[in-house]
Amino acid sequence: MATLYVVSTPIGNLDDISVRAKQVLAAVPTVLAEDTRHSRVLLNHIGAAPDLVAFHDFNKEKTTPRIISMIKDGRDVAIICDAGTPGIADEAFYLVREAVREGILVVPVPGACAAIAAIVCSGLPTDRFIFENFLPVKSGRRRRFFEEMKAEPRTVVFYESPYRILKVLHDMHEILGDVAVVIARELTKMHEEFLRGTPQALIAVFSKKTPKGEMVVMFNTRVPPYASNQPQQVE
Ligand code: SAM
Repeated sequence: MATLYVVSTPIGNLDDISVRAKQVLAAVPTVLAEDTRHSRVLLNHIGAAPDLVAFHDFNKEKTTPRIISMIKDGRDVAIICDAGTPGIADEAFYLVREAVREGILVVPVPGACAAIAAIVCSGLPTDRFIFENFLPVKSGRRRRFFEEMKAEPRTVVFYESPYRILKVLHDMHEILGDVAVVIARELTKMHEEFLRGTPQALIAVFSKKTPKGEMVVMFNTRVPPYASNQPQQVE
């Protein structure tokens, strides 16, 4: 029986791939990827040329039994995602669960993860936190979520689209008031920045400058907000 490797890849800066991730991706005959065209660019960059198989929400049920048989027949497989760590806000869990059920060895090859990169530089408490993936798209369900979070002492981390962030900040402002919020944008990329303040302060920032790029949002109901909401532009 072979091994399933769960391999983290960069979230922006291509140098953030580990030596071990390169070794594994160059050695395994098959790599599963959410978007094979996107991942081919990374694999070419590191000089790896495995068979690339698409693995995503729409084909995971159909593809998983084939992958499980492949591993049981002695072929090592690695799973990667579009960016960061597989299983965090994507479908890798589905395959990992089936592999574990089938007694297959599952090995992590850790590296970048947007949520972790964001919280450690946010200035919000990192000793205890919860990750909420993407929040509900419908405002009613999202508002109920914020209501529940009034009593949450831990830092809350979630992923959000730039197209919805203003609506999310408005809901947050109405329900949580002047809570401490940090938005980490475009991590490890040229326009990386951390925006800190209250929901209202960040609404003001995004009213002047259209929200763009990938973002991680974090808040904590127990600490005071940072006074400055000035972006810290890296370049
Ligand atoms: N598996 C990934 C990880 O380990 O972070 C996350 C995949 S999730 C489908 C994609 C979301 O992660 C984006 O919509 C954004 O919220 C967040 N994200 C990914 N890359 C990011 C980056 N460079 N800066 C900020 N957020 C990022």
